[in-house]
Amino acid sequence: MTAAPINFDNSYAKLPEGFYAKVTPAKASAPEVLALNESLAKELGIDTHWLKSDAGIAMLSGNALPEGAASISTAYAGHQFGNFVPQLGDGRALLIGEVIDTNGKRRDIQLKGSGLTPFSRGGDGKAAIGPVLREYIVSEAMHALGITTTRALAALVTGDEVIREEVLPGAILTRVASSHIRVGTFQFFYARDDVASLKALADHVIERHYPEARNHENPYLAMLQGVVEKQAKLIADWLMVGFIHGVMNTDNMSIAGETIDYGPCAFMDRFDPKTVFSAIDQGGRYAYGNQPSIGQWNLSALAQAMLPILDDDEAKAIEYAKKALDAYSTTFETAYETLIRKKLGFQKANEGDVALWQDLTKHLTASEVDFTQFFRALSKASIEPSMKDMVFHELFGGPSMFDMWMVAYRLRLHLEDRDDQERQKAMLSVNPAYIPRNHLVNEALEAAQEGDLTFAEKLMEVLSNPFEEQAGFERYLLPPKPEEVIKNTFC
Ligand code: AMP
Ligand code: MG
Ligand code: MG
Repeated sequence: MTAAPINFDNSYAKLPEGFYAKVTPAKASAPEVLALNESLAKELGIDTHWLKSDAGIAMLSGNALPEGAASISTAYAGHQFGNFVPQLGDGRALLIGEVIDTNGKRRDIQLKGSGLTPFSRGGDGKAAIGPVLREYIVSEAMHALGITTTRALAALVTGDEVIREEVLPGAILTRVASSHIRVGTFQFFYARDDVASLKALADHVIERHYPEARNHENPYLAMLQGVVEKQAKLIADWLMVGFIHGVMNTDNMSIAGETIDYGPCAFMDRFDPKTVFSAIDQGGRYAYGNQPSIGQWNLSALAQAMLPILDDDEAKAIEYAKKALDAYSTTFETAYETLIRKKLGFQKANEGDVALWQDLTKHLTASEVDFTQFFRALSKASIEPSMKDMVFHELFGGPSMFDMWMVAYRLRLHLEDRDDQERQKAMLSVNPAYIPRNHLVNEALEAAQEGDLTFAEKLMEVLSNPFEEQAGFERYLLPPKPEEVIKNTFC
C-alpha cells in the first residue's frame, strides 16, 4: 500500500450541509498540462512527481479525486455591480480539499472550470483556456510582486470544447487559497435570516483566519475589524502597482484578505484613475481609482450581514459595525501613505508628501505617462540633476510642468539621510520593472489558444522576478505601442 498522495484535512466540508453541495466533477476527455507550479506544490507538501503522474493529472482534471478529497461547491450570495443576488455559489468551481502546508498554514485546493454544480444557474460550469491562463499568469505575477493573493497550482486543457462567442479549448485552473470564503458567504446566510449558520461561519473564519479574535471581548467584531484591516491594506497594495481587479463584487472579495477571482482584471499602463478594462464594467464602477471606496462599500455589506451576530441589541450591533467601518479610511490612508513614501524613496514622513504625490499623479495623467516606467526611472534618478534626467523628457514628451515637480522632489530628498545608492536600491525593490501588461498577457493567451505556449512561458518567467531588469526581456518593460493597446478584457 502506498500512502495517500495528499494529506487532506478538510474543515469546510464538516460545516452544516447548507454551506455547500456535494458535487461530482465532469470528466475531461483528454487532459493536458499547460502549466504546473512546482514550487507551490512543494510548499503544499505535494509530491511533484505524483502531481505530474496520471493520478495527479486525474485529480487536476477532476477525472478521479484521490482518497480523502472533499469534492464540494460552496454556497454564497453577493452584490453584483451593486445589485444583490441571494444565491450565487460556485457555479464552476469545486473545492477538492484543504491541506496544511509545510509552513503549517491551512490552504484550500480548488478546481475552477470542472463542470456543472447546483449553483451553475445558466452557465455551463466550464472555463475557457484564455481566462484560465490569465488567472494563472496574473495571480502568480501578483504573488511575485509581494501582493497577497490566491495562487495557481496548475492549468490544464481538458480536451473538450467550450462555447463562448466562439468555440474555445476548455480548461481547468487549480487554485490555492487560504480559503474561498467571501463577503458573499456571510450575505448568503444573512439573506436567509439564518443566524445559527452566520455564527457557525464566523466561528470557522475566526478559527481559520483571525485566531487572535478569540481573546477579544466581542470576537465577531474583532473578526470584522480584521477583515476591514486586511482589505484596506490589500487595496492600497493594488493601487501601488496599477492593478485593476475589474469585478469587485462582494462575492469576489475574500474574507481572508487575498486578491481573489481574477476575471477581466488588468494592469494600468499610463496613469489615469479612471482606467477601466472590463468590457462589462460600462459605468466604470470598478475603475482603478474607485477601488478604495468600493472596498469600503463591500465591507459595509459584510458589516450588515454580521449585524445579527455583532450584538443581540440591534442599536449596539449597528454601533459596532460603524466602528469597524470607520477604521477603513484611516487604515487605508495609513497604508497608502506608507507605500507612496516607499515608492518615492522617502524614509521619513514629511507633511507635504501626500500633496507631492497628488501633484505627481496629475502630471502623469496629463502627460499620459506610463506608471510603471515612470517609477522605475525615478528609482534610478540621482539627488542632483544629471544626464539621466533625459529619460523624464522622453516619458513626458519633452520639457513640461513635471520638471518643476522634479525640482520639488529633489528638495524633498534633501530631508532624507540615505545616499543615492541606498535610496535607489530601496526604490528598485518596490517599483517593479515588469508587470503583467495587458497587451502582453493578451498576446500570451492568443498564442496559447492556438496551442503555442512559448510566449506565455516566457512571460511567466520574466514576471516571476519583477524587480530586476532581465537581459533579453526589454520589450516587456514597455507599454503597448498604439496599435498594440488592448482596451477591453473579458471574463
Ligand atoms: P464571477 O463573475 O466569475 O465571479 O462569477 C459570478 C458567478 O457566476 C459565480 O457564482 C460563478 O460561479 C458563476 N459563473 C461564472 N461563470 C460560470 C460558468 N461558466 N458556469 C457556471 N457558473 C458560472
Ligand atoms: Mg467570482
Ligand atoms: Mg470569474
